Amino acid sequence: MAQTNLKPARDRDHQTVGRVPSTRVLETLQHTFGYTSFRPLQHDIVRSVLDGRDVFVLMPTGGGKSLCYQLPALLTDGLTVVISPLIALMKDQVDALQASGVAATFINSALDAAEIRRRQALVARGEIKLLYVAPERLATPGFVRLLEAANPWFFAIDEAHCISEWGHDFRPEYRQLRQLRQLFPQAVIGAFTATATTRVQADIKQQLALEDAASFQGSFNRANLFYEVRPKQAAYEQIIDYINAHRDESGIIYCSTRATTDQVAERLRADGVNAASYHAGLAGNERARRPEEFVSDDIQVMVATIAFGMGIDKPDVRFVIHHDLPKNLEGFYQESGRAGRDGEAAECVLFYSYADVSKHMHFIEQKYSEVERRVATQQLQTMADWAGTIRCRRRSMLAYFDEEYDGSTDPCCDVCRAPVEEVEYTVAAQMFLSCVKRTGERFGAAHVIDVLRGSRGQKLLQWRHDQLSTYGIGKERSKEEWQHVARQLLLGGFCAQDPERYNAIVITERGYRVLFKGEQVLIAEPPKLVKRASSARETTTSNLELFERLRQLRKRVADQRGVPPYVILHDSALRLMTADLPATRDALLRIPGIGQRKAEEFGDIFLTEIASFTRAHPPAPRQPAVTATIRATLQLFHDGHDLDTIAVTRGMTLETVESHIVEALELGEQLDIDRLIEPARRAAIEAAFAELGPAPLKPVLELLGGDYTYAELRLVRAASQRD
Ligand code: ADP
Repeated sequence: MAQTNLKPARDRDHQTVGRVPSTRVLETLQHTFGYTSFRPLQHDIVRSVLDGRDVFVLMPTGGGKSLCYQLPALLTDGLTVVISPLIALMKDQVDALQASGVAATFINSALDAAEIRRRQALVARGEIKLLYVAPERLATPGFVRLLEAANPWFFAIDEAHCISEWGHDFRPEYRQLRQLRQLFPQAVIGAFTATATTRVQADIKQQLALEDAASFQGSFNRANLFYEVRPKQAAYEQIIDYINAHRDESGIIYCSTRATTDQVAERLRADGVNAASYHAGLAGNERARRPEEFVSDDIQVMVATIAFGMGIDKPDVRFVIHHDLPKNLEGFYQESGRAGRDGEAAECVLFYSYADVSKHMHFIEQKYSEVERRVATQQLQTMADWAGTIRCRRRSMLAYFDEEYDGSTDPCCDVCRAPVEEVEYTVAAQMFLSCVKRTGERFGAAHVIDVLRGSRGQKLLQWRHDQLSTYGIGKERSKEEWQHVARQLLLGGFCAQDPERYNAIVITERGYRVLFKGEQVLIAEPPKLVKRASSARETTTSNLELFERLRQLRKRVADQRGVPPYVILHDSALRLMTADLPATRDALLRIPGIGQRKAEEFGDIFLTEIASFTRAHPPAPRQPAVTATIRATLQLFHDGHDLDTIAVTRGMTLETVESHIVEALELGEQLDIDRLIEPARRAAIEAAFAELGPAPLKPVLELLGGDYTYAELRLVRAASQRD
């Protein structure tokens, strides 16, 4: 492991501000974590901490917060203390660090007294670099004395929003953290959170005295997540089809009630899916065991209420399905955000029906005070609007967090993939609303639709609704189509449901304008329930069979060590192995996520498996593929960085980065050329190529004269060959 004897900058006695050189930072990133580049903001955050500045970091789930405190901890001499609220999480992080050869440990109430003493002794002897503790530890005088003696230089507070009563996860124990400042005035403090609201942010900063901290805010755009909303019709059938198409992928299905989680899990098990339910009503031992089984891949699908929440740090959750509509958009963002923390493609599917909105409304009416009711209703409306929108879901999600979306994420959402057309539905709307009127605004949509379609149902005949002038006037449209019209009219505010009267549909002002003033109604074309084309990630796995074998191997290795599989290797590393088929340790080390220690410990087992697979299935001659290092450059480019920044971040020369880009283009990667060269320069170079041919380059450069470079020429040549 890379060792340094540098003091952190905050240690004013030593005046060591900024002493850790960038090359060392990059070396440790590569050596210990196996990554060749930083994710956005990570580098700046690490630098600030090493320079002795407090930091406040707001980064969405999966953004890579842990690295921002783990890396500085390894690069300096003293002790780093990580405060984390959840015992299971702490253990997983420590397991993962130890697997990478880092001297990390945790102390919490799950350990017996002798084990706590043993670990405290390690800390006292200076043998630990990273110590994870729960906040309540700081209330123990013995522990505070230990820390005073060990004199930590850095406190990283994970899930910092738990300190705020305004947050959705307030934990009174977090209040203890306010004393850190007084107890350790020299120490650097870093607060890390994924929570969005401005009020919580201000509260964290105030309570931890972080007003002068360097503040970092990552984008809320989770580019690897695909958002999709489906009509909630035959939801279970859709779910089982989905899972059958995603066998062996981890997923969570959120339901709004305990009973639904049990029912759905049971049906899934009856259909041969390895599923279990989770909710706050489970007995203590089951409640502890099931999340662990999910994290260890012993359970594939967890059907849960939102009690299955923050502690779920499994990086390779490939889908999150919402069986029911969440109460608000922030909740949905956090829950669906548990998919794809590893940055690999993942999907978020929400089943939506207006009936769910009504259920929530009913609950809100019963439960809350006047003020709470108003807030809750508004939040629900925002959620329902998001689900019912026919515009880009990512854009409206980001707008909710006051962030403007640049439109660059691909694939983005169901709406962008199959843009919905608005069509005129005035006549159908008039029929529906008029039927609502004639049935006395006393019935739900189902009954109104029965009347329109001329049903002979008993209830309808009892009410003599077959005598109405609107009876049977809507026969031409299917029931589903009418349901869609009803939903859209509700969403558009042409009518509303009255929770006081069993959700009977009533006509609004706007609806009357349609009926009597001929206001036009434009609504979305009904969705066609087409079977999904290939998902984003199917194309990235070049060899499913090998991937599966490596997964099983990883599971065996993990079980032997009693750690979750992702601690051994992430899915992304396995996927790259199936694509690159490494045959040597060195080749293995080039795969992001495999550092020195992991290559030594597990490398041979995986190499043997890959070798035995390739012997049995000799690879077809392959097109030269983009190498891992080029891929790392491309990732930064796609994240929006310019080439200079990429060069600095990756510790490479600009020329190397340019050559990565050219090579990627030559291999057929899609890149936005306009970000690399001005159109006028490109046109001039193309004209020169047209005159002299694409090779050799020297005469072309001479013809152009002036300040053109070979890199630009190669860029334009590669781009034109691709076009
Ligand atoms: P957060 O705590 O912000 O939700 P994590 O720290 O758990 O995110 O990181 C999310 C995932 O990203 C992890 O799987 C981690 O290994 C991976 N990761 C973090 N930094 C990098 C990096 N620089 N390059 C590649 N992967 C990274």
